[in-house]
Amino acid sequence: MTVTAVVGAQWGDEGKGRVVDYLASKVDFVVRFQGGNNAGHTVVNDLGTFKLHLIPSGIFFPNVRCLLGAGTVIDPASFLEEVAGLESAGVSTDNLWLDRRAHIVWPYHRLLDGARDKGSKLGTTRRGIGPVYGDKSSYRGLRIGDLLHPDFLRERLQDVLPLKNYEMAYYGLPPLKLEDLLAQANQWNQKLSKRIVDSVPLLRQAVQDGKRILLEGQLGIMRDLDWGIYPYSTASSPTAGGACSGAGIPPQYIEQVIGVAKAYATSVGGGPFPTELFDKDGETLRKIGDEYGATTKRPRRCGWFDALTVRYAAWLNGLSSIAVTKLDVLDSFETIRLCTSYRLGDQVLTDMPDTVTQGQVKPVLESWPGWKSPTSDVRDWDSLPSAAQAYLRRVENLVGVPIRYVSVGPKREQMICL
Ligand code: GDP
Repeated sequence: MTVTAVVGAQWGDEGKGRVVDYLASKVDFVVRFQGGNNAGHTVVNDLGTFKLHLIPSGIFFPNVRCLLGAGTVIDPASFLEEVAGLESAGVSTDNLWLDRRAHIVWPYHRLLDGARDKGSKLGTTRRGIGPVYGDKSSYRGLRIGDLLHPDFLRERLQDVLPLKNYEMAYYGLPPLKLEDLLAQANQWNQKLSKRIVDSVPLLRQAVQDGKRILLEGQLGIMRDLDWGIYPYSTASSPTAGGACSGAGIPPQYIEQVIGVAKAYATSVGGGPFPTELFDKDGETLRKIGDEYGATTKRPRRCGWFDALTVRYAAWLNGLSSIAVTKLDVLDSFETIRLCTSYRLGDQVLTDMPDTVTQGQVKPVLESWPGWKSPTSDVRDWDSLPSAAQAYLRRVENLVGVPIRYVSVGPKREQMICL
């Protein structure tokens, strides 16, 4: 394994952070390739329970170098807070770098995100992520490396800020002052400049030397800007393709793509979710699975495993294997259901329909007997209850990709490796 991408095969929150933490002990680099502090990876290890928003989940290993790639967006205030939190828990952040090309999330991005989201059904996290990627693609963004060039930064902000203040006025928000933002940028520069790097020579050398690199995605296929449930999507691409562009690794060097999927399904925010449960089973999944967002604390919508979605993720990412997480959450169920396809009137759909249609379909469900015994202490495939094995084999068969890891608890050691 030289370069491995770990991506979300559902709606996000699949447990990617936990999988990266498990794999990170054997790698040299962990690179986050897209997104910002809008998602949360919860990692439980010997040092405690950590909610990471922006910092790669490899941070707990002192020898692993962690990078935020060019495709990420960085809210410096939130980044510095996360660094301080880790350091106060005894986690070193000496090996943590930012690619100079990553865009800066400014206070106006956060304010505009909150104002735009109010009363809308999109359900963004209000961390400024949509607005900052919007500015990036309309050439109004500023990058983290621009902090090192105060004159350039002033010139750019002078151009951009009046437009932002104009938009803020539309939402009834007071204007921000150029000098205040520049003073803030100056403080960020003092604290961040030592971490700002050009990741190209670093990762090129690493690949050429055969170093092991993990590319860590945020969110999942159904929130992808192009392939997800637009407009209920994120503003970047959490796929293996996004990993190449966001981390700056040529596609031919990605040897493995691991898709992470829960043994059931959850979704936070708006948009269609065909297997969503509104009954006792949904409540049980939420309760046992502790399905509340790591960033926003919002209760997650819960439903059965949707094989059509994970199969879609398998193709679009070129998944080599899947890591199924949270199998233990299903331990007490009498019957477990599994969605194989969608029904629209008398039509059976096996390919992903458009967002509007996906909101109208009914899931075609299979029933599988539950195993009704605890799995959280199981460490090898053969010791799993036979009903759990049968369920997982059916998942594998429907998705068309082998299962390589099964996670049966949040702790590092609660992993079955096939
Ligand atoms: P990510 O953003 O994809 O990393 O996922 P999150 O961290 O938002 O959500 C996954 C949650 O499930 C976290 O709270 C993890 O600690 C927890 N978790 C991960 N794997 C397992 C598992 O196998 N069993 C249980 N019970 N919890 C898990």
